[in-house]
Amino acid sequence: MSKLRVAVVGAGPAGIYASDILRKEAEGRHEVSIDLFDRLPAPYGLVRYGVAPDHPRIKGVVNALRDVLDNGGIRVFGNVDFGRDITIEDLRERYHAVIFATGAMHDAPLDIPGIEAEGSYGAADFVNWYDGHPDVPREWPLDAEHVAVVGNGNVALDVARVLAKQADDMLPTEIPENVYRGLGDSKVTDVHVFGRRGPLQVKFTPLELRELGEVPDTDMVVYEEDFDRDPAADEESKRNKQLLVISRIFGKWRAADAPTGASRRIHLHFWSRPHEVLADERGRVRALRVERTEPDGSGGVRGTGEMRDYEIGQLYRAVGYFGSPLEQVPYDPERGVIPNDGGRVVDAGGEQLPGMYATGWIKRGPVGLIGHTKSDAKETIEHLLAGEETWWRPSIEDENEILGLLEERRVRFTDLEGWHNLDSHEISLGEPHERERIKVVDRDEMLRISRED
Ligand SMILES: Cc1cc2nc3c(=O)[nH]c(=O)nc-3n(C[C@H](O)[C@H](O)[C@H](O)COP(=O)(O)OP(=O)(O)OC[C@H]3O[C@@H](n4cnc5c(N)ncnc54)[C@H](O)[C@@H]3O)c2cc1C
Repeated sequence: MSKLRVAVVGAGPAGIYASDILRKEAEGRHEVSIDLFDRLPAPYGLVRYGVAPDHPRIKGVVNALRDVLDNGGIRVFGNVDFGRDITIEDLRERYHAVIFATGAMHDAPLDIPGIEAEGSYGAADFVNWYDGHPDVPREWPLDAEHVAVVGNGNVALDVARVLAKQADDMLPTEIPENVYRGLGDSKVTDVHVFGRRGPLQVKFTPLELRELGEVPDTDMVVYEEDFDRDPAADEESKRNKQLLVISRIFGKWRAADAPTGASRRIHLHFWSRPHEVLADERGRVRALRVERTEPDGSGGVRGTGEMRDYEIGQLYRAVGYFGSPLEQVPYDPERGVIPNDGGRVVDAGGEQLPGMYATGWIKRGPVGLIGHTKSDAKETIEHLLAGEETWWRPSIEDENEILGLLEERRVRFTDLEGWHNLDSHEISLGEPHERERIKVVDRDEMLRISRED
């Protein structure tokens, strides 16, 4: 049986599922060894640094991912950045193929005047902060009473919910100390969520919407003028189970007597397309100007020319994540993905590049839930296993040689045992406070705990 050595770059769900499927599918055909690299000392990608801390239902996924790593057969290399610590040449010399599963970490742009004003942020930056990502600043100034969130997807609702929650509501979660303090100092009273389409053309799911209404001491405010404007969409929604639930949730809020005197409010504004961010004389966000929209008769919206200004002191754009380019790997700057054909990386002319594969968000763009990365990985692995004639021919046979290379380059890499060390440490930090864990944020500290040095 021939040996197949594969490097997987990115230990998010896509990389972990791909490793698992590869291990299983190769059985009986190849003896396989898999090295899984991540630039962070902790695995799980956006499951750890994207999913909101008050979403414990995701725990099942974390357990499944952990089981894959603990099952053996996959070597984990944390704190190894592809492009900086290892290159495509290094991989070509040591592996038959590489699977890129580098996901997305940054925000898609929102191209409106004034968006660069001080106090205008990408949702991903805020998410990275509240999820304790090691590479972002520790302080987040929640110094405005009225804030805007632009977008109508699940991330927009995550951000709105976290902005509306009191620090103590978040305390049972795994948020680090600096985030608890930051939320405790928050001046936010009103969170305004803006969507350019109607209330029944949203991208968020009923579950996320319902959760918004469950934030303690917070009123949901919807505006009657935004409803019953699009009879075609209303009719369509009756045939769509998700929209039916969404419609019922809105119905409850429309009928409720708000405000009830709660200390915070979440306002949902529909048919409102961001037009311009207005700044004060110091360049700080002071208002968001939106253009009212209306149904265009074919499922979309068109501008009405009516502008409205909302006084706000901060703005969060939640209009999607965007994948980043990797050194010496093809990249599609329009879509923020590695161009590929069913997971086989292709060059500008559409020709398949030997030995290179992609999966997850960097393969098909930043849409879809964790579960989707599994079916996605299956397709990529099928193509990898069928493409033996295109695999690289590595010149270095010794599987442990990569350890020497990283050491020679003074990369403070971590392994699976290192992750177990950090994992247990975080759990032990939470124990005295009856919390499941408290995240360690500082990269050096993460490394010190993982590597016991
Ligand atoms: C804010 C937010 C909330 C979400 N909430 C949910 C939810 O509640 N439920 C749900 O099902 N889905 C949720 N999702 C979607 C889910 O997170 C994604 O579907 C999934 O994480 C995509 O997996 P991935 O492995 O492709 O990418 P990622 O999860 O982004 O993983 C990519 C990994 O690659 C690593 N990497 C990147 N570049 C390099 C490099 N140069 N060298 C080495 N390593 C690198 C990264 O460090 C990361 O660990 C959410 C997404 C976001 C953004």
